[in-house]
Amino acid sequence: TYVIAMPCVDVMDKACVDECPIDCIYEGDRMLYIHPDECIDCGACEPACPVEAIFFEDDLPSEFSGYIAVNAGFFTSI
Ligand code: SF4
Repeated sequence: TYVIAMPCVDVMDKACVDECPIDCIYEGDRMLYIHPDECIDCGACEPACPVEAIFFEDDLPSEFSGYIAVNAGFFTSI
């Protein structure tokens, strides 16, 4: 799955939302989140992000590794 990381916080440009063919990017209070079970790994969102907040999970920089759980957690908490 693809994951949205810290650069999105308080930016929320939302360009990615328009690119996602299955509308699996959801808006929270301070950042956007990708639903890990819905994402089809197409990669369309990644280049659309102006702050490079989106990564394929295996390519996440180590400082953002916690964001896999952050994205998934958003959907288990609602
Ligand atoms: Fe949507 Fe594709 Fe990005 Fe997954 S990789 S969030 S399906 S645009």
